[in-house]
Amino acid sequence: MTVWLLGDQLSPDAAPLATADHVLMIEAHGFAERLPYHPAKLTLLFSAMRHCRDELRGRGYEVTYVETETFGEGLSEYFEAAPDDALVLMDPPSHGAAARFTELVEERGGTLTVVENDRFLTTPDLFDEWAGDRSVDEGFRQEQWYRFVRREFDILMNGDEPEGGAWNYDDQNRETPPDGWSPPPTPTFDPDALTREVHEFVTERYADHWGNPSLEAVVWPVTRSEALSALDHFVSARLPEFGDYQDALVEGEWALSHSLLSSSLNLGLLHPQEVVDSAVEAYHREEAPLNSVEGFVRQVVGWREFMRHVYRRAMPAMGEANQLEQERELPPLYWDGETDMTCLSEAVSHVHDRGYAHHIERLMVLSNFALVYGAAPQALNRWFHLGFVDAYHWVTTPNVVGMGSFATDVLSSKPYASSGNYINEMSDFCAGCEYTVSRTTGEGACPFNALYWDFLKENEERLRGTGRMGLMYSHVDNKSDEEWEAIRERAETVRERARAGEL
Ligand code: SF4
Repeated sequence: MTVWLLGDQLSPDAAPLATADHVLMIEAHGFAERLPYHPAKLTLLFSAMRHCRDELRGRGYEVTYVETETFGEGLSEYFEAAPDDALVLMDPPSHGAAARFTELVEERGGTLTVVENDRFLTTPDLFDEWAGDRSVDEGFRQEQWYRFVRREFDILMNGDEPEGGAWNYDDQNRETPPDGWSPPPTPTFDPDALTREVHEFVTERYADHWGNPSLEAVVWPVTRSEALSALDHFVSARLPEFGDYQDALVEGEWALSHSLLSSSLNLGLLHPQEVVDSAVEAYHREEAPLNSVEGFVRQVVGWREFMRHVYRRAMPAMGEANQLEQERELPPLYWDGETDMTCLSEAVSHVHDRGYAHHIERLMVLSNFALVYGAAPQALNRWFHLGFVDAYHWVTTPNVVGMGSFATDVLSSKPYASSGNYINEMSDFCAGCEYTVSRTTGEGACPFNALYWDFLKENEERLRGTGRMGLMYSHVDNKSDEEWEAIRERAETVRERARAGEL
């Protein structure tokens, strides 16, 4: 039996491989030009694929590894040598991929059997059973799903009750580090000859792509053993403080105590079950506090699994959703990082430098600004998709179009929009910023503030009725006509300067 292993299914222990003797892998170079993907992302992907190939060969599998332009060309080459072969493929999470691959294989005389993708903890059937009659139009809520998964898989449970008595320790995940705190060092993985060779190829072939082309940007595990050592490092060195500082933003710090495991999970190098087990075991050994472990478990089996299923249920409409009818292009600062706004300059530089920014930078800085600025959700989705090492369409679309842009309410009942106050509370950015966070209008006022109020006013018809926006609209109602005039003027100035690359 031949298993066709995709670039985000890189586990030598993937279930279908147990009964396979032959593996097909296709490295599609033209496909990687669909977007100007970050060189670190492409280096990581191709290097991880080639390392997986070598590991599989070491385990005795015959591996056909095709370097080509498109999946169609790769399959043509494969079926010339192995006409009529029957391939088995783990169901790719991206919308329409299974159908497209089936068509490509059948056009070339082969057959394709699509089986369960075991790189996730939960199956589509389980989600659908949980969702019952609930439709996409009614929306899905992560917290209910998360509790269901905790019970179903007995994760951090004490009989029927959640460990510690609460399902969620979010209120203990909002500390900011004291002065002088420094995060644990990040794990390092020396690029071997194979990674160097791939990097050379990537930087030549994709020379015009966006992001830091240096090999130093490739700080991500490219093999399963490196990914396992990153997991050990997270659990022993970073997890203890992860909870407290989960939502914090610190100038000059890109990693804080975050796990940095998302690229490994999304490439298939790590399985969600093993990363959750490692964190929970550390809690039981009293080496990590509950607020850290629960927060991490929630990211993995709550959010990550939830996003995959909601995407599956809400596509293709979710990809094009734009309920707030926001149409602006992303301002140039997303590409060049040139801005006096410390928060955005930090976040964009983190993405540019290594293809990564942590979840609060993603949601409350990068997405929040695009939302209140009025950027098209699809433009922001594209930017996330090409810029982040852990980004795939199934990941970014629910996170960016759904949650960050509130282009659909499938996932949340209110937008994650905030003024500069939130960033000021969670970071040390504002103290040294050229802009003044306490001011909303006039020259020098924090751009987030006027944009935020203007956004609420602009979208009043859609948002006012949303239950959880009541408090925000009571503040809207308290502003005078003069205040609104000044807010509108400042918001327009901010948008014009952002467009001109002068913010
Ligand atoms: Fe960002 Fe405004 Fe704070 Fe500057 S003052 S860092 S622009 S939130």
